[in-house]
Amino acid sequence: MTGYTPVPDAEPFRIKMVEPIRWTTREEREGLLEEAGYNLFLVPAEAVYIDLLTDSGTSAMSDAQWAGLMRGDEAYAGSRSFYRLREVIRGLLGFEHVLPTHQGRGAEHVLFSTILKPGQLVLNNMHFDTTLAHVQHRGGIAQDLAIAQAYDPTSAHPFKGDFDLSRLERALKEHGPAKIALVMATVTCNSGGGQPVSLANLRQAAALARSHGVRFFLDACRFAENAYFIHEREPGWTGRPVREVVRAMMDVADGCTMSGKKDALVNIGGFLAMRDPALYRQATVWAVLFEGFPTYGGLAGRDLEAMARGLEEVVDEEYLRHRLGQVRYLADRLRDAGVPLMEPPGGHAVYLDARRFLPHLDAEQLPGQTLAVEIYREGGVRTVEIGTVLAGRDPATGANRHPELELVRLAIPRRVYTDRHLEWVAASVIRVYGRRTAMRGMTMTEEPPVLRHFTARFRPIA
Ligand SMILES: *Cc1c(COP(=O)(O)O)cnc(C)c1O
Repeated sequence: MTGYTPVPDAEPFRIKMVEPIRWTTREEREGLLEEAGYNLFLVPAEAVYIDLLTDSGTSAMSDAQWAGLMRGDEAYAGSRSFYRLREVIRGLLGFEHVLPTHQGRGAEHVLFSTILKPGQLVLNNMHFDTTLAHVQHRGGIAQDLAIAQAYDPTSAHPFKGDFDLSRLERALKEHGPAKIALVMATVTCNSGGGQPVSLANLRQAAALARSHGVRFFLDACRFAENAYFIHEREPGWTGRPVREVVRAMMDVADGCTMSGKKDALVNIGGFLAMRDPALYRQATVWAVLFEGFPTYGGLAGRDLEAMARGLEEVVDEEYLRHRLGQVRYLADRLRDAGVPLMEPPGGHAVYLDARRFLPHLDAEQLPGQTLAVEIYREGGVRTVEIGTVLAGRDPATGANRHPELELVRLAIPRRVYTDRHLEWVAASVIRVYGRRTAMRGMTMTEEPPVLRHFTARFRPIA
């Protein structure tokens, strides 16, 4: 599964513009941590040497995209840049109707306002946070139906984002089209570690949905990374052109939501796309209300232009080979040093398994948070906890939820860092691993009632 070979994975681009990043001393970081209440969201980005908080909206744009910003048409209605974006989406994904939105959650807001009635279900391999929140905001019920291996950090299953098809079929049979608003496949499966969904599984899941009269959509944020995994791994599809794989993935769906901040290689933007003209007309009403006129959707013309160009660039196979190779490279460095990871590495991030990294801490001692803080202290590298802090409390009992996985995510921005940067990241994590037994955990000192991870404050346990 590793197979990193340095030459073919080398960067298929060179660097034309540079942005200085600042190194901080250990003493500075110590002070910054204290000021931030040991919450990395509250540390200023300028005090971060390598920022692996997220891959969302952090991509470096190409010269063609920057040039496109100047070519953006800022007409309120019928902008040339909109038509160009729609042509790219029609050509690449095959969806006829396109509504731009300010980002991915804008597309979710419009879609669920259009199709979801209170009390209805949405079935997904694994809902992303904003998708889940939008389903619940509309009074819907979200169900995750990924295979069991998705929750096992040691399973090397090649498509851990796959649906459990028998559970999907059972849910469809039990509830039927009156009770189920949508089946949605998240590619790659972000909440499951950026794990891909196979084409065979997508096809069967879509066929099941269709045979029960339920629409099938993709949450397509990382569609190109998913397609490249299929191109690498799936029997019958290995070596097939990525554009062909992308089209085969889309062909089974009635439409998609998309965050341009991921696989459209832009810093802001998104869209909702679909085949059904009647659904498009209904969705347009909500799009106008929430996002803006249907040819700009909360974006400037230049943003539409940059997104159109990014969608063309993201399916370049040299780019994708480098992209997934870089994530794998970091995973290989860490694994070689014995650092416990969620396996296999996903498309956009490496996940440290905090439970196995710090086995002497129990969940109430917040091992994920402890580890993320320690990695920043050690190397100025910002990561994010995906564990007990993020999971929040059970509203009924008030007790901390204990998720199945306690992780620290190292998300790799697209085209931003070199392998030398990742060497530094690996060295920092490995040094922390060397002194892991000395870590005592953290406790929360201030806890907001909702989305606590963003603003909570902590202190180290003495
Ligand atoms: C990021 C993301 C979204 C939401 O997109 P935003 O642009 O952040 O609003 C939805 N689904 C998945 C899988 C994502 O990764």
